[in-house]
Amino acid sequence: MSETIGFIGLGQMGAPMARNLAQAGFALRVWNRSPDKALALQQEGVVVVKRPADAATPGGIVITMVADDAALKEVAFGEDGFAEVLGANGIHVSMSTIAPATTRELATRHGKLGTAYLSAPVFGRPPVAVERKLWICLAGAGGAKARVTPLLKAMSQGIYDYGEDAEAANVVKLAGNFMIAAASEAMAEAYTLAQKAGVDRVAVAKMFGETLFACPVYQNYGKQIAAFSFEPALFRLALGLKDLNLVLGASQENQAPMPFASLLRDRLLSSVAKGRSEIDWTGIGLAVAEDAGIEPEPSR
Ligand code: NAP
Repeated sequence: MSETIGFIGLGQMGAPMARNLAQAGFALRVWNRSPDKALALQQEGVVVVKRPADAATPGGIVITMVADDAALKEVAFGEDGFAEVLGANGIHVSMSTIAPATTRELATRHGKLGTAYLSAPVFGRPPVAVERKLWICLAGAGGAKARVTPLLKAMSQGIYDYGEDAEAANVVKLAGNFMIAAASEAMAEAYTLAQKAGVDRVAVAKMFGETLFACPVYQNYGKQIAAFSFEPALFRLALGLKDLNLVLGASQENQAPMPFASLLRDRLLSSVAKGRSEIDWTGIGLAVAEDAGIEPEPSR
């Protein structure tokens, strides 16, 4: 616990993850684009810096949890980016959901500076992050993985290692988010069928969540979809669209057709077009209900 850790991106996920590291005794230097989101951590004694570059120490560790690929490239290699400062023997632990191709690019660029790049995307929504119960998919160079393991343990309930090729962890994360979106569409269609046939959709979701599909995705997302409860968002629908586009990119790159992913991407795209970017991504259930002529309640 002797070294200072840089942490960049204090959104819905990053803020509780950083807080858990601080509470586990790690010394942090945090940065967020909107400074107000860093205030609570500052009041708890965490050092807040003015630029991404100030979060890094030479040869140290920087963790990133920003929204998307473009933001990640900006905080690492943009004008005020941390990559040059981190430099030789440093480690960048990238925890956002991003394209495998972005990982390839960043790993190469960091490699030229002598920095190791690890992919460590996560499963679990913000309340899960608060409880240190995330699942982490990890990939990258072995020595670097060993060095960051205590940090990852302080944020998670389990780490799955996918080997030395950092892109592998991104592929697993995209595969998982595709499965969650597919389950959401399936639940929305099934519960809408029940409702149209005069059966209580909430009761149907409850039964399946307790029996055939007794797992977190069907239980938690199922409850939201059945009750049309999409606000406040735990995972913004706009980010869900980002992820389905990443899934389709990976599908194209690997020549692995995913016809259902196209349908899901279009559900999300049409939801964004209808002004639903900021509701939860399970809000694709609204479009399913609308297609069946149901006026979704409570709203939108
Ligand atoms: P969020 O609440 O929207 O936070 C996004 C973060 O990225 C904020 O700190 C934001 O800064 C920062 N950011 C966005 N654009 C930026 C830019 N151009 N330059 C610098 N910083 C920028 O998102 P989140 O839910 O925490 O998600 C973060 C990542 O985790 C995403 O890759 C997401 O796909 C992934 N993820 C999310 C969940 C979930 O359930 N929410 C679960 C697993 C994985 P500002 O505060 O200034 O906007």
